[in-house]
Amino acid sequence: MAEKQKYYLTTPLYYVNAAPHLGHAYSTLVADTIRRFKRMQGYDAFLLTGNDEHGQNIERIARDRGVPPQQQCDELSAQFRSLWERLGVQYDEFIRTTEDRHKVAVLELWSRLTKASAPDGSPAIYRGKYSGWYCPRCEEFKDEAGMREPDHQCAVHDQPCQWTEEENLFFRLSAYQEPLLRLYEDHPEFLRPETRRNEVVSFVRGGLRDLSISRTTIKWGIPVPKSEAEPPGGMDHVFYVWLDALTGYMSGIGLGQDGKQGERFAKLWPVDLHLVGKEIVRFHAAYWPAFLMAAGLPLPRAIFAHGWLLFDEGKMSKSKGNIVQPDPIREVLGVDALRYFLMREIPFGQDGNFSYDALITRYNSDLANDLGNLASRVLTMIGRYFGGEIPYPSPLPQRLPQDLRIPEMVPEIIRRYAACMDRFEFSGALEAVWELIAAVNKFLVETEPWTLAERNTDDDRSRLATVLYASANALRFTTALLSPFMPGATEKIWRQLGQTSDLSTLTLEDLSGSSLGVGEKIGKVEPVFPRLVREETLQRLRQAEEQSAQKPAAPKSAPEPAAASEPLARLPIEEFLKWELRVGEVLVAERIKGASKLLRLEVDIGTEVRQVLAGIAEHYEPEALVGRKVVILVNLEPRKMRGLESNGMLIAASVGKEDRPVIVSFTEDVPNGARLR
Ligand SMILES: [Zn+2]
Repeated sequence: MAEKQKYYLTTPLYYVNAAPHLGHAYSTLVADTIRRFKRMQGYDAFLLTGNDEHGQNIERIARDRGVPPQQQCDELSAQFRSLWERLGVQYDEFIRTTEDRHKVAVLELWSRLTKASAPDGSPAIYRGKYSGWYCPRCEEFKDEAGMREPDHQCAVHDQPCQWTEEENLFFRLSAYQEPLLRLYEDHPEFLRPETRRNEVVSFVRGGLRDLSISRTTIKWGIPVPKSEAEPPGGMDHVFYVWLDALTGYMSGIGLGQDGKQGERFAKLWPVDLHLVGKEIVRFHAAYWPAFLMAAGLPLPRAIFAHGWLLFDEGKMSKSKGNIVQPDPIREVLGVDALRYFLMREIPFGQDGNFSYDALITRYNSDLANDLGNLASRVLTMIGRYFGGEIPYPSPLPQRLPQDLRIPEMVPEIIRRYAACMDRFEFSGALEAVWELIAAVNKFLVETEPWTLAERNTDDDRSRLATVLYASANALRFTTALLSPFMPGATEKIWRQLGQTSDLSTLTLEDLSGSSLGVGEKIGKVEPVFPRLVREETLQRLRQAEEQSAQKPAAPKSAPEPAAASEPLARLPIEEFLKWELRVGEVLVAERIKGASKLLRLEVDIGTEVRQVLAGIAEHYEPEALVGRKVVILVNLEPRKMRGLESNGMLIAASVGKEDRPVIVSFTEDVPNGARLR
C-alpha cells in the first residue's frame, strides 16, 4: 500500500498568561475537526498544539503572583492540556516553549539566521539601537496605526505603550518586502481569508522596518548565544518572544534533532496549515515566512486566520470580564453540541456572536429536531416493523421515482461537503449535510411509512422496506459526514445503525463505495440529542458556570510557605466577591475527643445554622465563645475532619511565629448573616 500523504496542521501556541477559555477552545476544536476530516480524506493528518511560555508578560504575571515563572507556566500549561482532554481533542503532539527540545530548535534556527544573507546581500542579522513605542502585552513595537492617541494606547489592548530604547540584535526584515509580496501574489492560498490577505499585503507594501529580535530587558526567555549577542557593554540577551514562539511549530516535530525526531521533521515540514486568530496574523504571515526564507527552510503552505467569538458584541477578554468557559456547556449540552454550534453558526474567518440563547436554539432546531428526530424515527420503525433488521429494498425496477431521489442526491452532497471542507467553509459543509437530512425527513412525511405498516398488504410491506432502507442508508451517510464535527454523537448513531466498523478511521472513499448491509441487526435505539427546555437549560448553564468559577483557577502544586516579604498577587475585586463572608453567632462550642486543637462550633449565619470546625482549641475556651459574633467563609467546600463535616471556615488573624489565631470580631452590633464586602 502506498504511504499516505501527510497533512500537518497547528493551532496557535497559546500564551500562558491566562487560563484557557472558549476562544482558545474554538481554535482548537476547529483544528481537531480539520484533522478528523483530513484523515477521512485519506491523509496522515498530524495536529500540533501547545503553549508559548516566555516573555515579559509571563515574567510580570509570575512576579505579581509571587511565584517563579516556571511555576506559572507549569500550572497554566496543565490547564490547557486538561481542557483538551475534557473536550476530547485528538492532538498528536504538544509543545511547550520551555522544553529543552524547543531550545535546541531555536538555536538551530538562530545558527542558520546568523549565517544568512538578506536578499540585498547584507547580513540578515545585525546589531543596532532601537527606540519606539512598545506594547508589553503584544510584545511588539507599535507604529502610529497600531496606537490610539493621545497617550499612545495600544489599539489591541487599550493600554498605554511605553517609550523604549534598547541595544539589540536585528533581523533585516526591510529587505524581505519584495519576496513577501511575491509570495502573496504567487500563492493566493498562502493566506486566507481574503480580508486578512489584503490587510497583510498592504502592511508589507507600506514598507517593513527591521525587527528587533533580542531583548536585554527581560530574563524569562531563551538566552542568545554570547558570541553573537555580546555588544561592547556585554549584555545578556534573550530571544524576542515571537521568534521563540513561532519556532515551536518546528521544535514540536523535531527541528534540530537526530534520529526518529529528525526524520519526523523531514516528513512533516513544511506545515500544511497554520490556524491562527486574526490578531496574530501579521506575525505568522509576514515575520515568520521572512525568518524561514532567511534560514533557508521551506515556507508554510497555508495560513488561515479565524475571527473572534464575540460575547455581548465584544471580544472575550479578561479585562472586560465577559469570559465564557467551555466546561459548563460541555457539562450541560455535551461537547458535540458546542462543536456543532461553533462550526455552524460562526462563518469561519469572520467574527461571530456567541450566546447561550443562540446555542440552545441551534441545538433544538438542528440537532434535536432535524438530526435527532431522523435517527430515532428511522431506527424505531426498523425496530418495530422489521424486528430490528435492516429490510430488503424492492428491486430497482419496482421503485418509484421519488425513491430514487435520495440515493441520487448522496454523491452530490458528498462532493459539495468535501469541497466546502477543503475551503474551510464549515458552515457550508454542514448546510450540505442538512439538505440531505431535510430531504429524508420530507421523504418520510410524503411516503408515510407508518400508514404502509398499518395497511400492511404485500405491496405496502415491500414499499415500507424500500422507504426505510433508503432512509437508513442516507442516515448512515449523514452520520459519517458529520463525524469530524461531532465525533461522540455520531459514534452513538453509528452503533445504533448496527455498524461495527470504527467510524474514526472510515475514509470518504470507503463511505462512497459502500452502503448499509441488508439483514444486519441495528443496535439499541436511544435519543442522542434530547430536546432542551430553554429556561431550565439556561439555569443549569448558569449553575454550572458558578460551580466552575468556585473551583480554584490553577491546580495548586504544594504552596511554598510565603515569606512575609513576598507580597501575594493583586486580584481584581471580582475575585474577592466570589468569597462569601458572613457574620455569624456562635450557638454551641465544644471540644472534640482526641483532637487537641479543634473546636466544634454551631454558628447561626442568618439563614441557617452551620457546623464549623476551627483549629483554635489551644487558644480559646469553648464557653467563652458562645454568643460571640464571628466571621464565617460560608461558600467553602465542606471538609471532613476527625469524621465530622466542617461547613465553612472561621476567619481569624494569624499572629506571630506560632500562628496564634485571633478571631475577627466587631466593636458594633451586626446582625447575623450580614455580608462582608
Ligand atoms: Zn498591545
